[in-house]
Amino acid sequence: MPVIPKTAEELVIMREAGRITALALQAAREAIRPGVSTKELDAIAEDVIRSHDAIPAFLGYPPGSRHPFPATITASINEELVHGIPREDRILQEGDIVSIDCGAVYRGFVGDSAFTAGVGQISEEAQRLLQITEQALSEGIDTARAGKQTRDISRAIQQYVEKHGYNVVREYTGHGVGRAMHEEPQIPNWWPRGKLARRFHSVPLVPGMTFALEPMVMVGRPPTRVLPDHWTVVTRDGSLCAHFEHTIAVMANGAPPLILTAL
Ligand code: MG
Ligand code: MG
Repeated sequence: MPVIPKTAEELVIMREAGRITALALQAAREAIRPGVSTKELDAIAEDVIRSHDAIPAFLGYPPGSRHPFPATITASINEELVHGIPREDRILQEGDIVSIDCGAVYRGFVGDSAFTAGVGQISEEAQRLLQITEQALSEGIDTARAGKQTRDISRAIQQYVEKHGYNVVREYTGHGVGRAMHEEPQIPNWWPRGKLARRFHSVPLVPGMTFALEPMVMVGRPPTRVLPDHWTVVTRDGSLCAHFEHTIAVMANGAPPLILTAL
């Protein structure tokens, strides 16, 4: 599968898909408090997306699957990393951290973005994890310029995270975004040294490329595992983890990327 750079007209639509995604996430974020269920956050995000003539990208994903994702957002609490299924009986508690991931499809193009936030007062350790993970995303975004390669982004994210004593998750990667939620290229949050690097494919960044960067950071050690619900990913060691994501577009002449999923 080739990388598909977008035209200027397509980028205008992708910016709108991204803005709708951002509005849905903002509404969910504003509703986060102790006592709220993840199902309520899901309903709030879905309302925002549908009221902007868009459709939830995650609902029913992937097509044809025996276990399609049943909701608009994924809501993952504490040691849950990603893909948590919203539930009426999953109630946010004071001190939790919750990762919300959301996608919207507008006029055939996808926006994909995520954040992790605290519920009420959270520990200093949790606050620091959120700060480092969000900044790791910024480091990746700042590296995403024409003339660089995908591996430069991977290394920037990994180096920043490890410098601060945390670990990147290896099983899930950033990815091209466009008419499909997952296009080429894959952009891991780490890059191997030595022989293993040959199995990784680094791609030159060219203007019009659109992709989601999504560092996933854990306090403990890899790996992760998937719960029997077929979706929820948790850290095996039960350690806290965080996830921040934006969909971005590479600009011409080495300019900083356009953040498509900004408000
Ligand atoms: Mg996402
Ligand atoms: Mg993504």
